[in-house]
Amino acid sequence: MKRWISLQAELGNFQQRRTIYIFALKMSFLAVILSVAIILVMLPVLEWLGLLPLRMLDAIRLGVLLAWFIGGTVSGALALLAGYAIHKLAVSRAEFERLSRTDMLSGLLNRRAFTEALEEAKDDASLVIFDVDRFKTINDRYGHASGDAVIIAVSQIFFGIFEGRDVIARLGGEEFGAIVHGRDMAERIARIEGVKTRIADHAIAVEGGSVKITISAGIADIWGERKKEVVYAAADKALYLAKALGRNRVVHESEWLNHIWQRPPAEEGQEEMPDRGEPHRYGHGI
Ligand code: GH3
Ligand code: MG
Ligand code: MG
Repeated sequence: MKRWISLQAELGNFQQRRTIYIFALKMSFLAVILSVAIILVMLPVLEWLGLLPLRMLDAIRLGVLLAWFIGGTVSGALALLAGYAIHKLAVSRAEFERLSRTDMLSGLLNRRAFTEALEEAKDDASLVIFDVDRFKTINDRYGHASGDAVIIAVSQIFFGIFEGRDVIARLGGEEFGAIVHGRDMAERIARIEGVKTRIADHAIAVEGGSVKITISAGIADIWGERKKEVVYAAADKALYLAKALGRNRVVHESEWLNHIWQRPPAEEGQEEMPDRGEPHRYGHGI
């Protein structure tokens, strides 16, 4: 029975009040049925011992009646109290779970939740790592609070854009991760290009004025057997290339390979490209 009760408590979704009442009802029926069974076993024994002051049939009637009224009511009331306690626990556990997956500044998913989502991602999806360009200069020029305002504003834009099966999270600092779905690679890249343009066009209010920022993005594709660490490293390298090519850019991992083989000389304003085989890390990694 202990197992049965805990099974009820586990399986029932106690965040909903309705579950409490169903639980209480089930518990009181169970209590009545058990009481009736015990009474039916006890009565012949009492009669045999000569302790039954009533006729057997009357005793059975009285026993069943008392089981329903007293047993049912008392156990129902106790189960209600227990149900409310479980409900409170279920609600606070759900809230705790939500907070442990949420980034406090932006309200987006945090790195932990993102890593889990990435593990689940299958085909028809790409991993995108976004990084705000020259973010440090915003902190330096307008103050840390303005830097935070920029992170919040960018997060809101992302939140409005990525929906449905897509996932968006703040990975740390001014770096964001997205799992983007779409028919094919070209469609997904086009969507990210759109996001980049939208952010570049958006003026963000900060202390003492407004700023326009740009972002760079590295994209890598997700497919069935491809290890997520490999996908992440590829997106990170693509982001590295986007930065090196002058920022405000979206780079797909395939471009990284092209650039590595061609190794064009660095143009003015661009950073020197790394050698092939050199370890590159842009973001925080997973
Ligand atoms: P890049 O274009 O190469 O990405 O340059 P960047 O200036 O954006 O990158 P860098 O890594 O040099 O600087 C990131 C800065 O972000 C440094 C750090 O102080 C700041 N930062 C990290 N987390 C937060 C935060 O939560 N709020 C604010 N306001 N600043 C943050
Ligand atoms: Mg940056
Ligand atoms: Mg960064």
